[in-house]
Amino acid sequence: MSDHSPSPDRLRTVLMRGLKRRCPKCGQGALYRAFLKPVDNCNQCNEQLGHIRSDDIPTYFTVLLVGHIVVTLAVITEHMYSPSTLVHLSILLPLSVVLMLLLLPHIKGVMISLLWHLRLGDGDKKQ
Ligand SMILES: [Zn+2]
Repeated sequence: MSDHSPSPDRLRTVLMRGLKRRCPKCGQGALYRAFLKPVDNCNQCNEQLGHIRSDDIPTYFTVLLVGHIVVTLAVITEHMYSPSTLVHLSILLPLSVVLMLLLLPHIKGVMISLLWHLRLGDGDKKQ
């Protein structure tokens, strides 16, 4: 089976590897060399990954997800306890930042893996 096979099972495997911040091809090598900086080549299978540009897509989905979580918590908290705005802000703002920092590398990994699977996001690279 090709690495870029259109089968749903293969796509699921590739996306799970990205979620775990692993190489979409082999699932062994690390996807990042720094917080959000992808490696140029996988250190296990030597697949080129550094040319894949996910741009703002991971940030968009992370903000969308964190926004839904935080707004839901704010509404539930307001309905149950009616805390002051200062209490809301002192809890929800740091929570938003922490959730963004925790989720963004994983969501970016999924996006890079999806782009790799679809052979998109090649930037200047031509195949
Ligand atoms: Zn690899």
